[in-house]
Amino acid sequence: MSIISMIRKPVPVPLREAGEVEIDVRDVTIAFERDGGELVPAVDRVSFQVRRGEFICLLGPSGCGKSTLLNAVAGFETPYEGEVVVGTKVVTGPGPDRGVVFQQPRLFPWKSVRANVAHGPRMAGKSRADAGAIADELIEMVGLSRSAKALPHTLSGGMQQRVAIARALANRPNILLMDEPFGALDAQTRTVMQESLLRLWAQLDTTILFVTHDIDEAVLLADRVLVMSAGPGRIVRDLAVDLPRPRTIETTLGARFQALRRECLDLIRQQSQKAFEGTHDA
Ligand code: ADP
Ligand code: MG
Repeated sequence: MSIISMIRKPVPVPLREAGEVEIDVRDVTIAFERDGGELVPAVDRVSFQVRRGEFICLLGPSGCGKSTLLNAVAGFETPYEGEVVVGTKVVTGPGPDRGVVFQQPRLFPWKSVRANVAHGPRMAGKSRADAGAIADELIEMVGLSRSAKALPHTLSGGMQQRVAIARALANRPNILLMDEPFGALDAQTRTVMQESLLRLWAQLDTTILFVTHDIDEAVLLADRVLVMSAGPGRIVRDLAVDLPRPRTIETTLGARFQALRRECLDLIRQQSQKAFEGTHDA
């Protein structure tokens, strides 16, 4: 063995590079059993890729399989056919590389905001002090420093959801999966949350897969909107949103936003019409 090879350091694991494929959904079908035992697909042969740092919205009518697809990426649901690859590994279950935010905040009601956010890092083996420092930083990022000691029930719905976002980010996931996270909030709060999520995403190095049935929300947030058909869910359009960033609620007033919104609206209308005809007796 030469001296050179002896002193050479081990090859470092390559850092993830911007533009690299981070989520690869390959021909995924997910089916559920009906009462009679019949398997009915909720998601039908769906394929798409998400690159590192992208903000992707899955848009579609209620019941089209958005949550099922997101759950497959999260590792809560196993594909009947196909596979989901995250980074370089096939997903076989949940993992700390993927943080998840649901429509309901699902906080520990007996724990303070700070303890809720520190919980993940504590479970991952961080010291109390380190977990607390991570929590404090994230709580500040979501604008809740003054409520760090509060219990969840004393906070508004929007504030609770900000805690849920901070908690999902606490283990420094590469990917944030969000399932209609602002769906239960009033319109004004939702707008504030959308703008603050965009600012947070710009500060972090996180890939976001965001599920919504709200067209305006999808177009405002996403780099690409994946429009789904009515169940069984398929992707009918991969729409690039070429609106400049940073985006705010003002963005929604522009002509380009309105044109993209219109395009999504027409696709969703066609899908809803098909679904209606499909369920309507002739
Ligand atoms: P979305 O999130 O777009 O509203 P879902 O992914 O929740 O849609 O559901 C898609 C379809 O799969 C629906 O018809 C729903 O009833 C069905 N489904 C979802 N989860 C289950 C389950 N655990 N068992 C049986 N059917 C399910
Ligand atoms: Mg859903």
